[in-house]
Amino acid sequence: MSLAIDGTHDPALQSWVESANDTGSDFPIQNLPFGRFRGEDDADWRIGVAIGDQVLDLRAAKVIDSCDMNRLMRLLPEVRRSVRQAISEGLRVGSTQQNTFKAALRPQSEVELGLPCQIGDYTDFYTSVHHATTIGKQLRPDNPLLPNYKWIPIGYHGRASSIVPSGQSFRRPIGQTKAADQAVPSLGPCRRLDYELEIGVLIGRPNVLGESIAMASAEDHVFGVGLFNDWSARDIQAWEYQPLGPFLSKNFASTLSPWMVTVDALAPFRAPFSRPEGDPEPLDYLQSTANREQGAFNIELEVWLQTERMRQEGHPGERISQSNYRDAYWTVAQLVAHHTVNGCNLRAGDLFGSGTLSGPNPEQGGSLMELSVGGKQPLHLTNGETRSWLEDGDSIVLRGYCQQEGFRRIGFGECRGTVLPAAVSERKAP
Ligand code: CA
Repeated sequence: MSLAIDGTHDPALQSWVESANDTGSDFPIQNLPFGRFRGEDDADWRIGVAIGDQVLDLRAAKVIDSCDMNRLMRLLPEVRRSVRQAISEGLRVGSTQQNTFKAALRPQSEVELGLPCQIGDYTDFYTSVHHATTIGKQLRPDNPLLPNYKWIPIGYHGRASSIVPSGQSFRRPIGQTKAADQAVPSLGPCRRLDYELEIGVLIGRPNVLGESIAMASAEDHVFGVGLFNDWSARDIQAWEYQPLGPFLSKNFASTLSPWMVTVDALAPFRAPFSRPEGDPEPLDYLQSTANREQGAFNIELEVWLQTERMRQEGHPGERISQSNYRDAYWTVAQLVAHHTVNGCNLRAGDLFGSGTLSGPNPEQGGSLMELSVGGKQPLHLTNGETRSWLEDGDSIVLRGYCQQEGFRRIGFGECRGTVLPAAVSERKAP
């Protein structure tokens, strides 16, 4: 596990990039998350590291000689850590490389931030037992949690082509739905559009097809994590999901934040993995001492909603829920070990969604389906508006940060997406 706390985490470190020293900045010198950016004149993406309100062009700073993020993600953990060390040293107050690095800085506000890497295969898990139980209760009041839940990290293979960068809008999907009182289904715009608060885990080092990854080395294969919104069409989902799981209700858009916070940066923010008393211990291939002691990540998560009206009135939006990744039922290492136990090969740039991260309390639901109890109890916003489901013009912004006594707070930036009206109201057969 990447639990090494070193000089790059020293809370006393200050950068000559002044904005990085603001206590409210998500990107102090202790963070150094990786992403891809391009300026107006750039034909291709460049690899950058966020520092304060700037982005450091790693090739221009002579830290690396490539613009291929997926290649960089494949680095051995010790090489990756040496790159982190070099960036940290160059950005520190008093660095001899200040002039070279300074020439490689661009204001984040003046560049386009893209997807952090080329996304390969995408798998979505279901790791919040609180989410699984609340949703299960709506579907099966007497039997909310299916018997495999506490033994298998449940997941399905999703679609990578429709994963979009933060800031990009998407159209309300059209699909086939059937209400309980309808005899036959109909086609039309989704009426129960929802978001899902998730962590996105980005795979770095690949494994060979046929060879599984053990718990002990699982995190060596993880490059970093970001914020992920798995937009969901609940009415389409309800009609299509049995027996093979979600399909068109999930693959019209998913939004990923631009910055990958590395597992190295997250070393001070680890937490024990434990289960409630009476729950079964996982099978051996999903257990390790390191996982029990520090397998979880202490990441505070927030969901903000900005309606069209709020935007027009200059209102920044309202926080509608909070949870913590620490409360997930399965850890990142367990997801890697389980995904590969059959020999399935992971590749650099593969993405795991954690599944909706809801906390233990009802107001900590990570989706509207939970907060509005399946649409039955609309959410009351402070400006008088209500929401059971997302409306056209609504923006959802996910935020995340880590704080721990004795360390500098680090953040994830934001993961933002806005709902546009459906492309057409109805499509009729010719
Ligand atoms: Ca999901």
